[in-house]
Amino acid sequence: MLVKDIGEFNLIKRLSNNFVKLKRPVIVGIGDDCAVLNSSGSRLQLVTTDMLVEDVHFRLSTASPFQIGWKSLAANISDIAAMGGEPTYAFVSIGLPKNTGVDFVDDVYLGMKAIADKYSVDVVGGDTVSSPQVIINIALLGEVEPENYKLRSGAKEGDYIFVTGDVGGSSAGLEILEKKLPIKGTDKHLMPIPRVKEGRLLAQSRYVTSMIDISDGVSSEIHHICEQSNTGAKIIMKDIPLSENTYKVAKLTGKNPYDFALYGGEDYELLFTCRPDATSYVKELVEKNCETSLTCIGYITASCQSLTIEDENGVSLPLKPSGYNHFVENQ
Ligand code: ADP
Ligand code: MG
Repeated sequence: MLVKDIGEFNLIKRLSNNFVKLKRPVIVGIGDDCAVLNSSGSRLQLVTTDMLVEDVHFRLSTASPFQIGWKSLAANISDIAAMGGEPTYAFVSIGLPKNTGVDFVDDVYLGMKAIADKYSVDVVGGDTVSSPQVIINIALLGEVEPENYKLRSGAKEGDYIFVTGDVGGSSAGLEILEKKLPIKGTDKHLMPIPRVKEGRLLAQSRYVTSMIDISDGVSSEIHHICEQSNTGAKIIMKDIPLSENTYKVAKLTGKNPYDFALYGGEDYELLFTCRPDATSYVKELVEKNCETSLTCIGYITASCQSLTIEDENGVSLPLKPSGYNHFVENQ
């Protein structure tokens, strides 16, 4: 059997079931956006790690070193945001081909420093090795109050499903770069803005029942929430918020614009579920304090119901779990 036969998520499950036997208690181990660990202080410790590999996550021909540095830390900060936490300390490990210019590395670090300063992250260690391709792995710590952290597993039947901002823009931006389309709009792909302030506000609300960040596409993230919460879900396609630019890219490429949001990924927006009687309160709370829109895209159904999406014509179809999955070919 090959890793491509089972895909990224089944491989993680297999490794975690077969080889991970915890020797000490943890609050949350493998399976959420971050691990949640006890600490001696009043807040809990969050830990996450993400790796970016040349020609898998970025191309040197289309992303500047500054943007690569920014995005590598942004992806990690987004996982801390998804738990409702604040990022603190980072360890940065880099693999570089021997003939890499020192200027290139400086620029990667300038990009990383720019986002680290914006979100008050301190780099306190890492590792530097030679490698056939550029690889950046960041481990990021964060903190959250014990009463505030949000998991993927808390969604309840009747909850509404919300996303922050608009979705699909990163994947549409990638399309612009790959197909050399004659339009602007690659910022969301190259320099995503993680939603830490929004995540903090949402986490402090007891009406928010589960939260995840959108790294692999809306569809994939909803499947994670439903699997871990033991629920179904219904998504209303026309309610998914897309930017003008995503529509433009869809038109130029003949694609369905909603596919960018559902199956694209790397938007680093937050997807969360909220008790039905508190949606206006939560929407107002975030929109007033953050200037970020919140949009309801569907609702959670009973565990016996499957995941469905109502298409533009009002027809209910099964919601395919596909999103970005490492090892799976022809995505
Ligand atoms: P995210 O997209 O939020 O970064 P992932 O899908 O990468 O999350 O990972 C899901 C969960 O699996 C996380 O808890 C992550 O820490 C864990 N995980 C991923 N790869 C491994 C691995 N090789 N060994 C142990 N845990 C892993
Ligand atoms: Mg995540």
